[in-house]
Amino acid sequence: SVPASIAAALSTGARQGLLLKGGVVIEAAARTGVVAFDKTGTLTAGEPRVTEIVALGHDERKVVALAAAVETGSSHPLALAILARAKADGVPVRPAANAAALVGKGVTGELDGVAIFVGAPRHAKERASFDASALEAVERLETAGKTVAAVIADGALAGLIALRDEPREDAAAAIAELKALGIRSVMLTGDNARTGAAIAGSLGLEHKAELMPDDKVTAIKELAREAPVMMVGDGINDAPALAAANIGVAMGSGTDVALETADGAVLKSRVRDIAAMIRLARATMGNIR
Ligand code: ADP
Ligand code: MG
Repeated sequence: SVPASIAAALSTGARQGLLLKGGVVIEAAARTGVVAFDKTGTLTAGEPRVTEIVALGHDERKVVALAAAVETGSSHPLALAILARAKADGVPVRPAANAAALVGKGVTGELDGVAIFVGAPRHAKERASFDASALEAVERLETAGKTVAAVIADGALAGLIALRDEPREDAAAAIAELKALGIRSVMLTGDNARTGAAIAGSLGLEHKAELMPDDKVTAIKELAREAPVMMVGDGINDAPALAAANIGVAMGSGTDVALETADGAVLKSRVRDIAAMIRLARATMGNIR
């Protein structure tokens, strides 16, 4: 019977770490035509590491000290990576005054009365001039799939910090599995276009970059005009996008927040579980029809 098939699918899923909130969600998952993935923490491990420091006018340790000062108040993955680098290098960190996050852009603060900004080069360019060699360094690092945090102190570019967040090891295989199921995959990211293209290219999916949180919602609505959309994210800063999709799936350790805002969850941080979830949903609906 229908309720028995649904109940069986829910418990089979749960045993594999695939949570679906009921029969309506199974039906929606079975109809998925497009999967939109958040990049950071979903297709990637979400644990960026500093790979390079380009000092411009200061030494490397000073660049790290300036950046770490404004990142101390932030829990953004890039902030944690910069603080970890300061610690590893034995750079003393003095917290900045008036530290504030500029969502989707970076952070600001003051150290000894000097204004500091750390964040995306495209926003940093509004605050300081980049000479040809700085522009070239940004391009080289981003083309290699790295995120660049530009460090500005007192209105001048002090340096660049390159960070790399590795794709999860099963991400490319998961995208290929979805493709075999006839499903289109799209990566959504607030990161810059070159880094987005490098990561998406290596995984074999489409992408939209430089998205602010609201832009992710708009992107989901646009995709939904073509086919039912499943959005997969960490459920924390992408809750609005999860809610805008036909079905929102949280990936990761399943925080309370994520489960509250999502229709489903995969609990093991395996991208391939998204394909497994859709196969389970399709098989269940196939049995019912
Ligand atoms: P994502 O979609 O990758 O989660 P976010 O919306 O969190 O992106 O941030 C977009 C961009 O803003 C980042 O790629 C980064 O360039 C910049 N940014 C945001 N917060 C910080 C921070 N604390 N330190 C440095 N850069 C930041
Ligand atoms: Mg994010």
